[in-house]
Amino acid sequence: MAVSLRADLTLIDGQLEPDVVIHVGRDGRIEEIERRGRGQHADPSVMTITSDLSSIPTDFSTSPSRGVHRLRGRVLLPGFCNNHSHAFQRLLRGRTERRFPGRSGDDFWSWREAMYRITQNLLPEDIEVVSRLAFMEMLQAGYTHVTEFHYLHNQVGGQPYEDPAELSLKVLEAAEVAGIGISLLRVAYQRGGPGVAPSAGQRRFLDADLDAYCRALESTEAQLEPEAWRPVRIGLGAHSVRALDVEWLTALASLSEEQDRILHAHVSEQPRELSECLAEHGLHPVELFAKLGLLSERFTAVHATHLVAGEAKLLGEVGASVCVCPSTEQNLGDGLPALEELLAEGVSLSLGSDSQVRIDPFVEMAGLENGERLRTGSRNCLLAADGSVGPLLLDVGSANGMRSAGLLDSGIRVGARADLVALDSNTPALAGVRVGADSDAALLAAIALGGHASMVRDVWVGGRHVVEEGTVLRWESTLEEYDRVAQRIWS
Ligand SMILES: [Zn+2]
Repeated sequence: MAVSLRADLTLIDGQLEPDVVIHVGRDGRIEEIERRGRGQHADPSVMTITSDLSSIPTDFSTSPSRGVHRLRGRVLLPGFCNNHSHAFQRLLRGRTERRFPGRSGDDFWSWREAMYRITQNLLPEDIEVVSRLAFMEMLQAGYTHVTEFHYLHNQVGGQPYEDPAELSLKVLEAAEVAGIGISLLRVAYQRGGPGVAPSAGQRRFLDADLDAYCRALESTEAQLEPEAWRPVRIGLGAHSVRALDVEWLTALASLSEEQDRILHAHVSEQPRELSECLAEHGLHPVELFAKLGLLSERFTAVHATHLVAGEAKLLGEVGASVCVCPSTEQNLGDGLPALEELLAEGVSLSLGSDSQVRIDPFVEMAGLENGERLRTGSRNCLLAADGSVGPLLLDVGSANGMRSAGLLDSGIRVGARADLVALDSNTPALAGVRVGADSDAALLAAIALGGHASMVRDVWVGGRHVVEEGTVLRWESTLEEYDRVAQRIWS
């Protein structure tokens, strides 16, 4: 599986570098980066070979004899991380964009009713097929890793499966066949709301009690078959403050610490969640999580749309992250999070496709910056050290998400997994951008703010070539299977 890749430009530590050769070893990790010093002449006989990003002068002709895959007209980036996904919601694409007769308005809560309807009809094999198609669309868009916030656990009707890991394993199988890295979060769900029993639509989400939740985690973990090239992690999910009481939230905090597992939670997506949390606990959601010990560097708040004063500080001071899902939040009318305040408190941001209304990291990156511009009435909000927006947005889309997903070995550097994305730099959206002064900053900004998934031509996950010339492997046969499921659900 060893492969060597040489693109026109490669993004390393926020800088575009010409004529870099990435050597990937059989273990799927980058074993060597050959790079010409920036600004030197393009003489292939005088190359710098580095093994740890420090320069070791040597002769290019001594490089490994294997063939170098020349990626002409390509910009090579680290793979993107889709840090919040509900894969089965891919079935909802295009299905909730109509106001039905008799409704005076639609909102998150009416969308949720539609989502509950499809969960009542999905069999385990359907979940594998739908997840696989969603994961393949993600790969094709440049996502090499997904954090799946998985809350479908039981049979139709609510009875647990004999193996409580049944549906988790279907999602993991889908990721394996698609070829995407995955952090699967077992999401805890206990109740319909404060003092409210679960509704019929929520019965597939429930674990009977904390012991059952832990047994399900153990069963999932025990059945994993580790692969060297593709990361698979099992983490924890707290659905939301409305779905869990204090006992459950406290137990999840302890599990996260004792087992060193990442813990993600939906946080402050809707104003109603805040008023219910205040009425039940006298605290806002992040304040409650801080009091119960959930916040740490392993914790990620998903959405964080309606934080109140002081909550960004609570997240920042313990090194917690926030995952924003701009395309879904726009689609659901959630609102806009105060990103500049989060950044000022040192909170790391990442991105997710959530409801799958779009699967496109470029749409999410642009949505993040543009949302903050709309909220603040100003421009250039999410800035890298040089004052430009491109490098920070690209970090938010890749390295930050990987860290929040529990992966510390990402990026284009020696020893990291070779999760790589090649963009077509000749696409009309980038044409004529990289000229004159500050051309690299212009190109990075154009990619982050004006890019789109169809620029992605090739993708490698752990050195495996999973998208070739814009086509993900096994797409056609998966689409046929998906069509049969969608036909049954929507007929
Ligand atoms: Zn979500």
